[in-house]
Amino acid sequence: MADDIVFDKRFDLAPGVVEQVIPGVRRILCNNPSPFTFKGTVSYIVGTGKVAIVDPGPDDAAHVKALLDAVRGETVTHILVTHTHRDHSPATPAVKAATGATVYAEGPHRPSRTINLGEAPRLDASGDFDFRPDVRLADSDIVAGDGWTVEAVTTPGHTKNHMAFALKEANAMLIGDHVMAWSTSVVAPPDGSMRDYMASLDKLTRRAETIYLPGHGGVINDAPAFVAQYIAHRKGREDSILARLAKGDADIPTLVRAIYIGIDPRLVGAAGLSVFAHLEDMVARGTVACEGEPSLSASYRLARGGLGRGSS
Ligand SMILES: [Zn+2]
Repeated sequence: MADDIVFDKRFDLAPGVVEQVIPGVRRILCNNPSPFTFKGTVSYIVGTGKVAIVDPGPDDAAHVKALLDAVRGETVTHILVTHTHRDHSPATPAVKAATGATVYAEGPHRPSRTINLGEAPRLDASGDFDFRPDVRLADSDIVAGDGWTVEAVTTPGHTKNHMAFALKEANAMLIGDHVMAWSTSVVAPPDGSMRDYMASLDKLTRRAETIYLPGHGGVINDAPAFVAQYIAHRKGREDSILARLAKGDADIPTLVRAIYIGIDPRLVGAAGLSVFAHLEDMVARGTVACEGEPSLSASYRLARGGLGRGSS
């Protein structure tokens, strides 16, 4: 597809090695690679002397030790958490216990909508339901440390509580899993919501930051252009779904086979959830219909009078 994203999969940081990524920000990689986490979770250290740690990472003793080693001789005053997937927040209590830092985040883990029958186990598998911030942040709240200032930017979609942190001194944004250079972001209902996600991408188009520091993989240096590609990609996915449904009703496995050619077999489940996320949004907007509530097992069709016919 002409509208597809140009991914940047270069990322050579070794686990446990501290590296300055932009002025005033260091990063350190956890050794938890997977098809979903790429090389692993990237934790960030903001400031010098009195610092903030952004996303302490999974419950991984080696990573916690590496993080604490990286800030030896400094004071950790703040812990900022972008969202509460198990690869981002479970190390928070250990880092807080070792440093006494105050934990800031949007709020506890919760689904993006009410849970339907059979959905709870999947939600439990990915979410850190034990997480509680000391301080809950709202959109536009400012958190100031010694020599650094961040603005909280609510970015729901990947999770309900996803929050990015705009670093004023660097015109940069700690963007979590909302936008990543190496891959699209997983949006899996009911944990995530495509409607929220698209609105949160749109929100980025009204901001000035040019550099994004993601929770996995390398830096995005031309953020506005990259976000435009991300939005075009999602719209392209919608067009592909509509084009397939124009040929006849289809369930989610049929749509995945039609749309994701040559996909890594380990990602078929995630692709199904992503298609489901689009379908939920399209049913809500009236372009697609199904019997009853949208679900993973439903059959979908173009809504009468829906848009998109012939969009292939
Ligand atoms: Zn995540």
